[in-house]
Amino acid sequence: MDSRKMLTFTNPATGETFGEVAMATLQEAHQAVDDMRIAYKLWSQKTVQDRVHILGMLQQVIIDLLDEITAVINKDTGKTRQDAFSEVFMTVDLINLYRNNAQRWLQRHRVSHGIYFFKSCYIEPRPYGVVLVITPWNYPFYMAMPPVIAALLAGNTVVMKPSEVSPASSVMMEMLFKLIPELAPFVRVVHGDGSVGAALVKAKPNYIFFTGATTTGRKVMLAAAENLIPVTCELGGKDALIVLEDANTEEAARWSVWGACYNTGQTCMAVERAYVVEKVYDEFVHYAVAYSEQIKMGYTDDINSPYTYSSMTDPRLLKSISLQLDDAVAKGAKIICGGRIKGMYIEPTVVVDVDHNMLLMCEETNGPILPIMKVKDEAEAIEKANDSIYGLGASIWSNNHARAMRVAHQVEAGTILVNDTIVQIAIPMLPYGGVKQSGFGRMHGKEGFIQFTQPISYAIGGSPVKWDIATIMRKPGNYRLGFTFLHLLFGISIRQRIQPIINLFKYKQTIGRFNSKGRTLR
Ligand code: NAD
Repeated sequence: MDSRKMLTFTNPATGETFGEVAMATLQEAHQAVDDMRIAYKLWSQKTVQDRVHILGMLQQVIIDLLDEITAVINKDTGKTRQDAFSEVFMTVDLINLYRNNAQRWLQRHRVSHGIYFFKSCYIEPRPYGVVLVITPWNYPFYMAMPPVIAALLAGNTVVMKPSEVSPASSVMMEMLFKLIPELAPFVRVVHGDGSVGAALVKAKPNYIFFTGATTTGRKVMLAAAENLIPVTCELGGKDALIVLEDANTEEAARWSVWGACYNTGQTCMAVERAYVVEKVYDEFVHYAVAYSEQIKMGYTDDINSPYTYSSMTDPRLLKSISLQLDDAVAKGAKIICGGRIKGMYIEPTVVVDVDHNMLLMCEETNGPILPIMKVKDEAEAIEKANDSIYGLGASIWSNNHARAMRVAHQVEAGTILVNDTIVQIAIPMLPYGGVKQSGFGRMHGKEGFIQFTQPISYAIGGSPVKWDIATIMRKPGNYRLGFTFLHLLFGISIRQRIQPIINLFKYKQTIGRFNSKGRTLR
């Protein structure tokens, strides 16, 4: 009998099961990395144009199968077809950007030769080899496909370990790769939970791109450190939103609610804390409740859903969210809208009278909850926003552009929006990622692409020319020459630049003095 562990496909919104996939064994996980190491030899020899062409086929297949893809994501996560569509749209937008720029971004480029006049120097981005991409379930397609595609275009082969919470989407992505024979041998999807992820890290890939919780990122980094494998971590967030007195309060409230509830709040850069200056606090709270009450919660697999959001995807979150709400209420917070958890569904919830002693204001929530805190002024808003171990995104609301930018420059976050929420992740050229314990490294844009390469430096020329100053300086006994050269080239003041001449003058004087006293100088 087959004793393999299975991952069951379960629609979290209905409880219906609709398939399963076998988890990889630890040995298969190792084998996947070994296979991709061999495949790398072939893939990295292809020209960038070839790779761009092959990934164009993937782009074509994704567009052809758009409805099928959104149907799988909808069943797998419970999210609306429209939210699933956004994942696909943003992915295609990024593939297109990467394909259009790969040639340029991967080009070697010349740099100055410094004092080595007879060498030409350049930097060439070189792929790492096998890239391991580990991804979460909240955007099973969008968190997985762009880094995989960027890594492939850059010349790496890829082992992808998607989340065990959304296994149907993982199988669907595997099928997409398999539909393109030119691509299939160079990317391997490995199904499984954290133990499989850990086995893949141990199998010594050449680079790891991890997206997930901060606690898991720490474990991955520790394991990768054993073999000094470079890791990029895209981790959790507790994004703050600041509303200043000169903001459009109604719009701020409306988009705060949207930013807190989009994708059932299961977005790494969801609005998780709102700080509103006291002058507009009551108005903001009023509108936040009004907009929360307009939200329709429910599930359908129809592309025309009347619902804003559906069930939670990961059942583990129900417990932690319930704990955060209970803790907040026990410490004096008031739930003024929603707050009920029914099965896998959580009502859009607005909480006030919160403070930083509450888990709700410190730990990542990942649910449709908007805690609102009154602050005295701009300075307190910034202080509170920065009082967090996280720093993924932030949102500032003000109609005074200069003031909004002044605040933005002081907020500790990897991406900052003025007068909007969440959408920074949908702008392909904007590198996306966190500061502090929200991670490091970036997705998207040139920075998110080029990170899948390492800069290799070349200094090319004939054998050292005898009379080249750089060659002469290598010879023993030329300390004085180097001294003169350094002063002439890099001296900051005029005195420093002419120091060798002053020295020469002093030297001559000394010689004169010594000679007049009848001593011999060597
Ligand atoms: P998670 O950390 O539980 O799991 C992420 C992935 O890591 C999964 O594929 C899992 O199987 C794997 N994994 C678990 N233990 C592992 C180990 N020891 N070694 C290797 N791999 C291991 O996170 P999740 O619950 O899937 O996702 C939600 C989290 O992801 C939230 O914290 C959210 O904020 C974060 N997230 C961050 C971003 C970002 O861009 N910063 C984007 C999306 C989600």
